[in-house]
Amino acid sequence: MAPAKGDNNVAVVPSMNLERLLSMKGGKGEASYANNSQAQAIHARSVLHLLKETLDTVELEDNPNIPFTVVDLGCSCGRNTIDTVDIIIKHFIKRYQDLGFVPPEFSAFFSDLPSNDFNTLFQLFPPLLINYGGGVGSEECLVADNHRTYFVAGVPGSFYRRLFPARSINFFHSAFSLHWISQIPESVMEKRGREYNKGKVFIHGATESTANAYKKQFQSDFAAFLKCRSVEIKKGGSVFLVFLGRTSPDPTDQGGPGLLFGTHFQDAWEDLVQEGLISSEKRDDFNIPLYASSLQDLKEVIEADGSFVINKLELFKGGSPLVVSRPDDEAEVGRALANSCRTVSGVLVEAHIGEHLSNELFSRVALRATRQGKRLLDQIQFFHIVASLSLA
Ligand code: SAH
Repeated sequence: MAPAKGDNNVAVVPSMNLERLLSMKGGKGEASYANNSQAQAIHARSVLHLLKETLDTVELEDNPNIPFTVVDLGCSCGRNTIDTVDIIIKHFIKRYQDLGFVPPEFSAFFSDLPSNDFNTLFQLFPPLLINYGGGVGSEECLVADNHRTYFVAGVPGSFYRRLFPARSINFFHSAFSLHWISQIPESVMEKRGREYNKGKVFIHGATESTANAYKKQFQSDFAAFLKCRSVEIKKGGSVFLVFLGRTSPDPTDQGGPGLLFGTHFQDAWEDLVQEGLISSEKRDDFNIPLYASSLQDLKEVIEADGSFVINKLELFKGGSPLVVSRPDDEAEVGRALANSCRTVSGVLVEAHIGEHLSNELFSRVALRATRQGKRLLDQIQFFHIVASLSLA
């Protein structure tokens, strides 16, 4: 089916197509994910001890001829995924060696939506160094810094569906991805419905019914995620998840992501409407498909599903999503905020209003954020949910 045409002659993307479209900005340019994911790297480091605790709960394979499989879901196209998988596999190798066993061979699957820039990711992999004839030896581990000691493959597809054969995966990891819902709820797109997100591009500060429609979508997506993983994971396997959460019980208060997408970004859309560059309807048809969950939202789903036991479920303060070298330089802070928004939402914005208007929009985001300068850095704080789960 051909996509419908909206004003500005740009294709309107029906929500079902989100799965085919959503991706972080690929390549190596200024607004690319590869160059705008330092905050995620810092936040990931601060939960490393929790990740390692989870790795210690995973049962090791006792047959050295069966490969040990690790998956990163929502890997995107920057270095973070490779750094994390390296840490995970080194940790498992050390566990084998501490027990006096020869480690098996390792496979790492890097999974994301098909529109992810897998080419950029694949070019970042260091060369494979493996001990032919069986397993990874300790000598290799010593020089593994510029090498990898595991086989890799990219797996395109949504983590809300099946991705792997039943009982084939030892460990699942996913960082900063599960807050992306699979689609904008249809009711939120209904112009005459109660849940239509009029005047807004995100649920921060939206009506309770709009935010609740997002919550329902998040919870049904997460239930689908758990169902699929519970089939794919091997007995004795574990899952470690970290993604955007919120402290408020109220879903219309999305915390840090609310400020990122509900203030300057929102106001810049209003600028385009006021300047006559787009209609207000065009703006109202755009929504950010993201939901920062509360611990309670999540607990309800995990318990109702029942396939996993919770080892750990915590909310922790990740800090600012903006990484700048000169915090007093207001223009740099403004640019960082605009790049931060663009790297994660730019592909969706461009599909909705085209590249030219997208440039207009993000330059207004930068301008507005520059006026706020350093205050912004302190204001926008991200909280993350950490969930460590084992098969029940
Ligand atoms: N894990 C990386 C990247 C996080 S960016 C890091 O820590 O830096 C979030 C990623 O989630 C994006 O690449 C996006 O494409 C992916 N994503 C969002 N929804 C998804 C889905 N339904 N299935 C698979 N990946 C998804």
